[in-house]
Amino acid sequence: MLEFQSIRWVSLLAVMVSVGPYSGPALGDHRWPDQRQVGPLLCHADFPLDKYLPFFQEIAELQTDLVATLGVGKTREYIHLYLFSKRSTYQRYLREHFPGVPYRRALFVKGHGPGMVFAYASGDFQVDLRHECTHALLHGSLPMVPLWLDEGLAEYFEMPADQRQRGSPHTGPVRRAALFRRVADVQSLEAITGIDNMSGRDYRQAWSWVHFMLHGPAAAGDELRSFLGDIQAHVPPGRLSDRLTQKIPDLNRQFVRHFRR
Ligand SMILES: [Zn+2]
Repeated sequence: MLEFQSIRWVSLLAVMVSVGPYSGPALGDHRWPDQRQVGPLLCHADFPLDKYLPFFQEIAELQTDLVATLGVGKTREYIHLYLFSKRSTYQRYLREHFPGVPYRRALFVKGHGPGMVFAYASGDFQVDLRHECTHALLHGSLPMVPLWLDEGLAEYFEMPADQRQRGSPHTGPVRRAALFRRVADVQSLEAITGIDNMSGRDYRQAWSWVHFMLHGPAAAGDELRSFLGDIQAHVPPGRLSDRLTQKIPDLNRQFVRHFRR
């Protein structure tokens, strides 16, 4: 039984699914014309990876960024990347191994074993891989991540490191909303239980809270790290919105201020 847990914003072309035991190709499977290991990433591709190696190195460094920024541990497992040069081959492969999963441009699959990321060399290849690998690295370290926060973090880290703070396409709409003092409702995000209920707007709002916590008041970032630390320690974390409000009583005002700057 496939269970959808999250989906990318706007185009809704990439998705994370949780599945049972997986019987697809493993690292030692020599059907893959090119295979490389870069940090925790085990890359399998049906095309030469040489020109992508600097990019994979960047993705591997995402691990360092997550540890440094969020205070989470390193992934405890390898992440398998299955990469295809053509969309048609990618689609055929997924149909064969994950029948019933609707087409998405990229996919993170988490079963009982290591996380797996599937993608093809589309124009959004690098953004998709950063996004899905963020999910994979977080889930390789933490026992769970709340759906909205998982997506907010993936949206944040899908940008190249030097564009995360100011270069996201989400910035403009969120800043415009802040001009009218419109605040993304974090409680509504927390109430989302399934992928089907998460819209492009929800993805943007999830990103905005992550941006606020990482670049706004220090207390917000501290609370995010503390929240993730509790999850890592298997301590029930409660609701992040409650914790933030406790630390920052005028939370919504601070949120608006952050994006009006
Ligand atoms: Zn996602």
